[in-house]
Amino acid sequence: MTISDAPAIAPLNPPRRILLGAGPCPVDDRVLRVMGAPLVGHLDPLFIRTMDEVQELLRYAFETNNRLTIPISGTGSAGMEAVVANLLEPDEEIVICINGFFSDRMHEMATRVGARPIRVECEWGKPIDLEKTRRAWRSSNARALFAVHAETSTGVLQQIAPLREIVDERDGFLMIDAVTSLGAYHIGVDRNRIDACYSVTQKALSCPPGLAPVTFSERAISKIKSRKTIVRSWYLDTNLLTAYWGEGSDGARAYHHTAPITMNYGLHEALRIVAEEGLENRAKRHERNHCALVAGIEAMGLKMQVAPEDRLWTLNSVQIPDGINDARVRSRLLEEFDIEIGGGLGIFKGKIWRIGLMGAGSTENNVLLLMAALEKVLKAEGYKVRGSGVSAAADYYSRLE
Ligand code: PLP
Repeated sequence: MTISDAPAIAPLNPPRRILLGAGPCPVDDRVLRVMGAPLVGHLDPLFIRTMDEVQELLRYAFETNNRLTIPISGTGSAGMEAVVANLLEPDEEIVICINGFFSDRMHEMATRVGARPIRVECEWGKPIDLEKTRRAWRSSNARALFAVHAETSTGVLQQIAPLREIVDERDGFLMIDAVTSLGAYHIGVDRNRIDACYSVTQKALSCPPGLAPVTFSERAISKIKSRKTIVRSWYLDTNLLTAYWGEGSDGARAYHHTAPITMNYGLHEALRIVAEEGLENRAKRHERNHCALVAGIEAMGLKMQVAPEDRLWTLNSVQIPDGINDARVRSRLLEEFDIEIGGGLGIFKGKIWRIGLMGAGSTENNVLLLMAALEKVLKAEGYKVRGSGVSAAADYYSRLE
């Protein structure tokens, strides 16, 4: 390409999709508006105050008093990597409970930092096998255990307390992925004594992707501070990051990297919305819309993948009926209704649809609209719809009134 070949590219004009997939999810207009606000410097007094408030609001969302509670610059995988890179040393064992795609990713990351992951293979679509996990914990020298709270690849919710109980047998460290639960569930970081927990902005917090909230317990910080080896990642080293984010609300700040200012504005507003609605009300809203969706799905004759007691409210996995083409249904929903739903991952590829009802996307309007659109598309694809999903979902809402 030469200097006279300047590309003539048209401006972007993205459609207003209704994002009901596995993420990103709908962003609140208040968040989008603040992201258009003027930029300030990364050490500007206003930005320092924004950072302090983001930390305070994140502590509320995580339900923790942990001083080291910050958004890592990067997506959820950066949060995941921050937890592994800081807490694990080379040759250290870690028990990793694997019941879906994302716990497998953690195994890969632990291997890359030189740790020795011990895999506890569990069935996809089910919670973690606790007896198997206990056996693996007892027969290892691991001091850390990792699990995913809300497995986005399967739609399974994992109870945290039984895992804490296992880890307590040896005063271990509990590491939890809360990517698809922060902002929709009571994670209870302090109550469950989670030592390291990370999430994302693009799911139930209703922000674009780009930051990964993380929180570390005091015990975790002591472990990090007494490491025998240096944290292998410079970018994710919490010792360096705290110098920028402050050791509390009035700590001095030093440049580490240029924080994504606009993303932090967005997260600030998204977390203000979480605090205004309150965690209790948010949890109820997510549960209510999930139940309405399930009522509609089952009325149409479709089947949920996960047993009722283990289902996530944020991510609903629905079995694709025999003879129905996965990709065609999803592309019709997108092209005809501007609705995105997710396809399956890993062993569930082509077998399930993943319907996300998270944050600003978890609404009665979205449930009813999706039921109507899905019914029309399924009928056009030759599926014998048993009953009306819209009516069943609407009846569910009416019964609550
Ligand atoms: N963990 C879980 C449970 C996820 O669902 C995801 C992404 O969807 C990740 C980790 C990785 O997050 P990201 O894609 O933002 O890097």
